[in-house]
Amino acid sequence: MIKKTAFVLLFITLILNCKADDNYKKYTQSSFSMGTLLEITIFSTDEAKVKKILDESMKLSNQLEDKFSCHKDSIITKLNKEKSLIINDNEVLDLLIKSKYLSKLSKGNFDLALFNITELWGFSSGDPKLPDNNIIKNELKKTGYTNVIINKKEVKLLNGVSLDLGGVAKGRIINLIAVFLKQNGFKDFIINGGGDLIVSGKFQNIRPWRIAIVDPFDKNDFLGFIALTDKSIVTSGDYERSFIKDGVNYHHIIDPKTGYPSTNEVHSVTVISSDSTKADAMATAVFVMGEKKGIEFANKTDDLDVIIITGDKDNKKISYSNKITAKKTDKGKWEFTYRD
Ligand code: ADP
Ligand code: MG
Repeated sequence: MIKKTAFVLLFITLILNCKADDNYKKYTQSSFSMGTLLEITIFSTDEAKVKKILDESMKLSNQLEDKFSCHKDSIITKLNKEKSLIINDNEVLDLLIKSKYLSKLSKGNFDLALFNITELWGFSSGDPKLPDNNIIKNELKKTGYTNVIINKKEVKLLNGVSLDLGGVAKGRIINLIAVFLKQNGFKDFIINGGGDLIVSGKFQNIRPWRIAIVDPFDKNDFLGFIALTDKSIVTSGDYERSFIKDGVNYHHIIDPKTGYPSTNEVHSVTVISSDSTKADAMATAVFVMGEKKGIEFANKTDDLDVIIITGDKDNKKISYSNKITAKKTDKGKWEFTYRD
């Protein structure tokens, strides 16, 4: 059964319990975008302006999704077909350069050139299936970020590779929406694109935003909270898109070394960074790395912190990197703290 990311969002609960300043009000708008629910909340004193900007943000998200998609009639689709293209669109070119950098940073555990494999599994089509092992082996030869050559505006795909920016596009889109909101003078807002969040400023300008961390064993519940300001927080989980065949759970995060969903006991990875594009790609990468290597990687990488959940329903293990601490409250939930 495919579990839609949108449902998860319902449970990324923000605890909004402060007394309102009469003029500084909270406005929220949600819309289906990027294959998930995009929800933006802004504090403002200017109702007319905030409504206009919220509408424009939703449009911006759809335009960017069309640009970065590897399924629609986009620049990426054209590049995948022609294998060599001059890219004049700066937003696409910037994301390609950044995605290649993030692929290298993660030693290929995030791989922007994994399309030939992700397409076989079909998670983004909504109708995933278990591919034939021989086909996986064959298509695996046509993957790998080192085959993506970027020279100024010219992008070349060698050895038959094709691009899938699905593991990074949401992070970039919410980043560009945040830039748009700031350009329009907003400071206190939160953008939630299917579990990829940017928190800016403060709740009502008085305290940090409190973000809930979903329980990967029961996505209707949450494990705990973390208070954040001016950060991105992104979660990738094996409960988001998956199907079960012959008792095996196949999820949408693929190990680029094998071409199969990663099997390393990780159930969810939450990444905190000031850069949402990096956070998105690294949530996928750390998921593939696994608990031990993932924590080591976060501890030696600048502006990257992680909370990794392994184990099983009755025996959860929560691991976290150096800037994070955790304490269990008397209600049985975890209170995570992040220190810059
Ligand atoms: P979501 O937020 O929808 O759960 P993620 O950010 O975790 O998505 O990225 C998953 C998507 O990224 C997959 O649907 C696939 O398109 C692509 N993907 C899966 N594994 C990898 C990988 N190892 N490297 C790069 N992209 C990947
Ligand atoms: Mg991701």
